[in-house]
Amino acid sequence: MKIAIMGAGLSGLACALTLEKYGCQADVFEKRGLAGDRFIYAEAMFSMFHHPIDDAVSYLSVEHGIHLKPSSTIQKTEIWTENERSSLNGHLGYVNMRGKHPAAYEKQLADQLQGKIRFHQDVSHTEISKEYTHTVLATGDSLDTEKIQPYKTALTVRFIGAIVAGEFDITTVHTFFNNLFAPKGMAYLLPHSVHEASLILVYPQYPENEVLDKDELWENCLVECRKRLNQNLALISMFELENYRIGTTETPRIGNTFFVGNCFGSIMPFLGFGQLESILTGIYAAQAIAGKGNYEDLVRPLYKSYHDSLSLRRGIEKLDNKQLDFLAASIRNPLMEKLLLSKRVDGLKIASRLIHPFQKRS
Ligand SMILES: Cc1cc2nc3c(=O)[nH]c(=O)nc-3n(C[C@H](O)[C@H](O)[C@H](O)COP(=O)(O)OP(=O)(O)OC[C@H]3O[C@@H](n4cnc5c(N)ncnc54)[C@H](O)[C@@H]3O)c2cc1C
Repeated sequence: MKIAIMGAGLSGLACALTLEKYGCQADVFEKRGLAGDRFIYAEAMFSMFHHPIDDAVSYLSVEHGIHLKPSSTIQKTEIWTENERSSLNGHLGYVNMRGKHPAAYEKQLADQLQGKIRFHQDVSHTEISKEYTHTVLATGDSLDTEKIQPYKTALTVRFIGAIVAGEFDITTVHTFFNNLFAPKGMAYLLPHSVHEASLILVYPQYPENEVLDKDELWENCLVECRKRLNQNLALISMFELENYRIGTTETPRIGNTFFVGNCFGSIMPFLGFGQLESILTGIYAAQAIAGKGNYEDLVRPLYKSYHDSLSLRRGIEKLDNKQLDFLAASIRNPLMEKLLLSKRVDGLKIASRLIHPFQKRS
């Protein structure tokens, strides 16, 4: 068996690490000069969307021997709409770093790997599959998937983000649902430390959004965030990404080619998050290659979550600011909060079902 992994990101490295656990070595190809060789920013994992996994970090460590150290635990999520403010409290998940940051998750995974990563190798599936018996497509780019099989794109999004300076409580994250600056999207602020945070605006590139001035949306986002946090939030650095695709494959595996991470379609459409799902697809592909499971069966729950998440997204997208206010206010109802945070229920499924009555109200 000769295994190639294309991409040393979350899914590719999780796959390589799991293969090592089963005594299999893979050749990992990475087009960049090191794992996470790009701009620094923070990402989050929210437990309520990962049912039945309660604590993703300890689950990956205990069940799969993949050890990740987040930068903070989320104890509070502030939800801001145009006229309302609500919060969810409890052990809600984690914030972690990505990119060139020394504690970036991709760097943490690369450090756990015994085998070497072949850097500066921009490889193609066509050439790799000639040499290897098994190929894992982990390039983080669904355009690579589309060269092999259809990929159903639900939406493409634009990210505008910045590292901002201020005074932050590292256990509190802020989310903003406001069509005035995040049309059918959202903005969020994730602290890296008590002095630094990532502020990210993300919205779908629908035709009606593309006629809007993106710089103006970003300015309005910044104004709102500064006002709500009552801070100046000086910009340290900025990044912008467009045409980031959210969608899914028709099949997770073709012969001995395994699609993992974004190449599989592991971005959950509601918030556009997919870290845990990417890591899981990497683990599952390795298990299948090592003869420890069937990839199609292992990823089935992820397809299900994807569709629940898409349904939640489509519901939220229909809400105007008044309805978003109403939704935020309803979260202050203790019963609603309890339901959303219950470890016994699937928060994503519940939220995707609960959203529909809000669409009818105006
Ligand atoms: C701005 C932004 C914010 C996000 N925020 C969150 C969040 O808060 N929470 C969350 O859960 N998710 C978030 N996500 C999504 C998350 O980043 C992805 O789900 C995850 O990184 C996908 O993992 P992956 O392994 O598919 O790709 P990646 O981790 O991107 O890795 C792909 C790797 O493949 C390499 N590569 C590409 N092409 C080739 C090639 N031809 N040959 C060799 N190597 C190649 C790349 O250089 C890269 O290292 C965010 C995404 C973005 C862009």
